[in-house]
Amino acid sequence: MNTPHGNSADSKRRLVLLGRDGVINHRIAKGFVTRWQDFAFLPGVLDALHTLRENGYTVVVVSNQSCVGRGILNWQELQLITRRMRLEVALAGGAIEKVYYCTHAPGDWCECRMPQPGLLRQAMEEHQVGLGQVYAIGNSASEVEAAMRAGCQSLLIDRGALLQKNAAGHFPQVVSNLGEAVEIMLRRATPSLDETLLREWPRLPSVAQPAAPSSKRAARIMA
Ligand SMILES: [Zn+2]
Repeated sequence: MNTPHGNSADSKRRLVLLGRDGVINHRIAKGFVTRWQDFAFLPGVLDALHTLRENGYTVVVVSNQSCVGRGILNWQELQLITRRMRLEVALAGGAIEKVYYCTHAPGDWCECRMPQPGLLRQAMEEHQVGLGQVYAIGNSASEVEAAMRAGCQSLLIDRGALLQKNAAGHFPQVVSNLGEAVEIMLRRATPSLDETLLREWPRLPSVAQPAAPSSKRAARIMA
């Protein structure tokens, strides 16, 4: 089925790695989401996840949740919040394929806590996509650094980004919310007219050059 964006066969293999807090739901200042009642989707996120699914993107969540390692929340409680998040996304027409958490505390010196790239690399390996087709969307410097070290393109969500539009194009590109990040990804996935022309140009049938009329003939025609 053709969709407005990215209807090529490989579109099914595009992968988006999303941070959780500050990307999907409101980040709790200096704290953690420890119960579903405190999990609030950010505006436009459910629609953006629906759009990603419609366009054939695989979405996974990659997030540090050291609240488990710090003993603030146990794994089962984290799973309850996660299941509810995925259910709400599914009800809105989106899909979160898998959720990867680093539950270690900072002092554990694990390989998966961002800015370490371990968790992103695991997600990429498990989904077997080329580097050019992977986007990581984060809300913190550590998430962006992990994306860079894992070798994928990244977009940084910063709610103050509306004031910094001119920074676009610099690495990492800054956007104000997930909806804007999705727009950028879809735009990049859809070749521009220039790109299409460049690609198609060599395949166009060559046009025979008309022979230049001799001056006599040209004169006759003009007479
Ligand atoms: Zn870890």
